[in-house]
Amino acid sequence: MTDGPRVLKPRCESDALVGKKDFRERLARWFRRHARDYPWRRTHDPYQVLVSEVMLQQTQIATVLGKGYYTRFLESFPDVGSLAAADDAALLKAWEGLGYYRRARMLRDTARAVIERHDGSFPADLDALLALPGVGRYTAGALRAFAFGLPAVLVDGNVSRVLARLLDFPDPVDGAAGQKQIWQWARELADDNQPRVHHAALMELGQTICRPGLPDCLTCPVAAFCRTREPAALPVKGRKVAITAVDEHALWLRDAAGRVLMQHESGKRRTGLWKLPVRDAGEISHLPVVAEHVYAITRYRVRLRVHDGRAPGAWVQPEAGEAWVDPDGVAGLAMAAPFRRVLEGLLADL
Ligand code: SF4
Repeated sequence: MTDGPRVLKPRCESDALVGKKDFRERLARWFRRHARDYPWRRTHDPYQVLVSEVMLQQTQIATVLGKGYYTRFLESFPDVGSLAAADDAALLKAWEGLGYYRRARMLRDTARAVIERHDGSFPADLDALLALPGVGRYTAGALRAFAFGLPAVLVDGNVSRVLARLLDFPDPVDGAAGQKQIWQWARELADDNQPRVHHAALMELGQTICRPGLPDCLTCPVAAFCRTREPAALPVKGRKVAITAVDEHALWLRDAAGRVLMQHESGKRRTGLWKLPVRDAGEISHLPVVAEHVYAITRYRVRLRVHDGRAPGAWVQPEAGEAWVDPDGVAGLAMAAPFRRVLEGLLADL
């Protein structure tokens, strides 16, 4: 370790792949003592497992749990049949706040395929799972391990980091070759006798102890197997994501009855959601700003600026796909979080 606090680490007592039986046992013992209690760990229902896995793909556990998204979604759509039958408005409203709305539609596509191809019962076979829309090798592995208790391999960001450190892997983990190697190690280390425990334990180790940045090696249950002497330098990432700053210009416009002009989205990203009408910068950026909010999405840092559509010099009219909505009806519309936030602020100031 060259920078920052020193991390004391026990000497490696064996090669992780040679000592894998011992490794699995220590990991499982630690997990049984320290496992956190998540609702999706109390069920073996493949539908509920799938919902949790899809939600957690791009959203933190604390958000999914703390804001009640998981519970509310299952209250709205308690089984695969109810999700398969969901219309766009109900689906997007139940997903509101989680972002990446494509996930919700894909989840419904999966549910529909389970109904059509498997009479509503999830298959346990790996190839049949992989043939479902929206189910890749990670999700298929999670369903096999957590729902069916069957041998599986699954690697997420946490597992990648843990394995890269355990095996002192010097190559980028986000490239094709790096991922191939990490999946290979995950396969070799997997405990087929207790897949539920093993995979949940490896993920939890990454979430709580072998964290990004400086891990807590002193309390690590598998430190004796760990080869790296510089855990904070791992995993190596090859891809640098450049963040692009962009401005988004929206309108705050009310009619004589106090209704708010809203726009129904038709673009790829948030189709079906509602938002304040967005216009080209040249059309409205000269108008006074009444609200502003900065948010991040994929590789963009977006500054959402809301302009006063009734300011002197404004000449804006409703366009196709836009509608006047009573303020009381706004809460019932599915809306992306940044627009919900600025709109609630504006309505509160009325
Ligand atoms: S916390 Fe991570 S880096 Fe530290 S000993 Fe455990 S596996 Fe190795």
